[in-house]
Amino acid sequence: MHNCSFCGCELRPASGKMFVRNDGRVFYFCKSKCQKNWDMGRSGKEHKWTKLYKKDTKAVKKEEGKREKD
Ligand SMILES: [Zn+2]
Repeated sequence: MHNCSFCGCELRPASGKMFVRNDGRVFYFCKSKCQKNWDMGRSGKEHKWTKLYKKDTKAVKKEEGKREKD
């Protein structure tokens, strides 16, 4: 099982796309929407509809809480 390189959601077996760049890095995309956004150089963390965005905002909130205590 792999996660989409853009939105972070789980890919089901035999679904989605695998993209191998010239430098050998492998990226997985669950849908063309993800691949197109990634092609444009966007990060999944910038978009509300991705799983990565939710994860990232939670992490940021925790960090902010720590800073306030210090
Ligand atoms: Zn995706």
